[in-house]
Amino acid sequence: LFAGETDFLKGVVAMDGMPPADRLEVCFAGRSNVGKSSLINALTGRKALARTSNTPGRTQEINFFTLAESHYLVDLPGYGFAEAPVAIVQKWQRLLKAYLSGRQTLRRAFVLIDSRHGVKAVDEEILSLLNKSAVTFQVVLTKTDKLKKGELEKVIAQVSTALQKHPAAFPEIVLTSSEKGLGIPTLRHIIGTLV
Ligand code: GDP
Repeated sequence: LFAGETDFLKGVVAMDGMPPADRLEVCFAGRSNVGKSSLINALTGRKALARTSNTPGRTQEINFFTLAESHYLVDLPGYGFAEAPVAIVQKWQRLLKAYLSGRQTLRRAFVLIDSRHGVKAVDEEILSLLNKSAVTFQVVLTKTDKLKKGELEKVIAQVSTALQKHPAAFPEIVLTSSEKGLGIPTLRHIIGTLV
């Protein structure tokens, strides 16, 4: 799947802009700065496919990419900006809810968690929303190169505990480092088996 071309299709700000649900897809969610753009770039082997940007509120769109012309990879806007205006946050939440509850072709949501921080309150909100929407989700720990083995084990335990209250959670946690290329083949493989 990832041997083929990955192309940016479109950025969507409202439900009526969504491409037709005519092929299987996976989506990626995570707090801003979690390393989502870096991970998507590493997965697809394209350095600047997903913009790496730390500017709050700049990427409030749901970005659709085509995988090998036969599937979609969906990049959800980063959440958790303390300084984002309430109106923007609400608009984003409405769009996200509409997407998650209505997308028949969505096979799994990958929720990125910064391995240095573990599951925070804002992450919990997304996990609850996914759970309510009955979307199976799987946690991907990012930036694992920044942690020592013992620290990583601690955060894995914290995340596992947090996942126990969500029936929609897939129990296996994927450990990644986009910087070092760790876990990228594993994640590609998982996505390959889903779509
Ligand atoms: P996004 O806002 O979630 O799209 O996050 P970015 O991909 O823009 O990454 C945010 C910051 O984390 C950038 O400074 C990246 O260089 C850094 N980063 C991303 N992935 C990794 C990683 O695997 N290891 C390390 N050490 N830093 C990373």
